[in-house]
Amino acid sequence: MVEFEVKYRDLLGRIGRLKTKRGYLETPLLFPVINPLSQVVTPREMFEKFGCQAVITNAYIIKRHLAREVTEKGVHALLEFEGVVMTDSGAYQILQYGKIETSPEEIVKFQEELDTDIATILDVPTGWKVSRKHAEYTVNETIRRAKKLAKTKTREDILWVGPVQGGEYLDLIEKAAFEMSNLPFDIHALGSPTQVMEQYRFDVLVDMIMTAKMNLPPERPIHLFGAGHPLMFALAIALGCDFFDSAAYALYAKKDRYMTEYGTMRLSEMKYFPCTCPVCVQRTPSEVQDELAADRARILAIHNLYVCMAEINRVKQAIIDGRLWEYIRRKAQSHPAVFQALKRLKKYEDFFEVHTPLTKKSGLFFFDFVDLIRPEVVRHRKRLEQGYSAPKNAEILVLFPQTTEKPFHKSKKFREIMKNLRKDIPKKFKKMHFCFYAAPFGIIPIELDESYPLSQYEIALPLDMETKLYVAEQVAKYVERSNYKKIVLLESREIWDKTITKACRKSCKKKGIDLKVLGSDRWKTFQKWAKELEKN
Ligand SMILES: [Zn+2]
Repeated sequence: MVEFEVKYRDLLGRIGRLKTKRGYLETPLLFPVINPLSQVVTPREMFEKFGCQAVITNAYIIKRHLAREVTEKGVHALLEFEGVVMTDSGAYQILQYGKIETSPEEIVKFQEELDTDIATILDVPTGWKVSRKHAEYTVNETIRRAKKLAKTKTREDILWVGPVQGGEYLDLIEKAAFEMSNLPFDIHALGSPTQVMEQYRFDVLVDMIMTAKMNLPPERPIHLFGAGHPLMFALAIALGCDFFDSAAYALYAKKDRYMTEYGTMRLSEMKYFPCTCPVCVQRTPSEVQDELAADRARILAIHNLYVCMAEINRVKQAIIDGRLWEYIRRKAQSHPAVFQALKRLKKYEDFFEVHTPLTKKSGLFFFDFVDLIRPEVVRHRKRLEQGYSAPKNAEILVLFPQTTEKPFHKSKKFREIMKNLRKDIPKKFKKMHFCFYAAPFGIIPIELDESYPLSQYEIALPLDMETKLYVAEQVAKYVERSNYKKIVLLESREIWDKTITKACRKSCKKKGIDLKVLGSDRWKTFQKWAKELEKN
């Protein structure tokens, strides 16, 4: 069984430690793709300069061109790389040329001869915009080959990757993931999402990854094949991907394209480098343009690789800080397609809620309605709906608006009112239940006010309409679930207009609950009202 220990989590993202026969790898991890026939940056440089723990290369290309050389000394010596080597098996070549000259069994045996550390079976990639019939064939054939691995392989020390195919057909991905999870693989991979990404269909990519993720064993790492742009790392990691490979750093460089963590720029259009990596600080864009094509490609490849590695580090730090959501939000601002993908997470909010850590060391930042998808908001909603009931003696619900101080019940105004009520109306006070209505969580009963993260967050005001309506809906649902005889709503029109009042009125009418709305000068009016209540 695979040895993969998760040390930190945020959303579905995780920092883990995977044991390979050549040592441990820390995830999330980027495997730079090494073309064994032409290297712009050598594997040795990757190890020494970039601290790369691992690279990926293509076993099929090695078999065709360097077979004799490699079988004598192994793939590590061939590449002159001391770290972990992963091999792909030629599936990408199938996608490009339709057919390749090897068999699934041959390529399994060959990878064992290479002494690779992580090996991949010869899967059949589905591709993008193919017929359902073809997609079915690729899934079934990949599963058939996966089942044969146990009979073909002779070594136990190599980790094997079981790719999940299906393309944009989510039911096929589900089937593939289910079948693969029953086979003794150590790692899974989601088949080539490159074309989906080239079409900027990041929302479809979210569906594909989530379908695979929800149907694969959580204890096995997931590799997202061919997703080598730093723009996408954070989102993919947040969806639970642990490994990436990048050929893009070199391919982009050959076309004079300069990667940034937010997108790609053309060298010819650049006047300044927005980067402090060793190659960028020593040159200006125009100096790089004056270089020969091969030198330019190398300079840009080195920069691109630095950007990729730095981005992985930023995401890891965000996981440790519990700020992965805030981080993917920032990424989403760089392109509408990424923002669309972020919004697609709504579809999976329950799954995220279940798998996100309960507490974090930092408070939460809320910007707008998109943050209503956050696991913490969903969790609070579920907690109130499924596991909460008001204190037994509570007959009167008093709804207070959120205050700027947190926790709300410790605000000066609120404490002062409580003190007076206790003194003035001791009997009725015992029958009162105090709750706050606050964005983005909705109803916060006073006894939960201090539990994380209900008082450890910041939200931008004024609120947008979606957020107001969401909170109003939560208030309405709470009232309708409750058994109060009387409700007092302290309005705060400066934040909420009439949204809360309207929702409250409607629900009280439906339930036949007596509602008292206190508008202007609500604090004073409330105390006056409470005193009268005591008399009756
Ligand atoms: Zn740079």
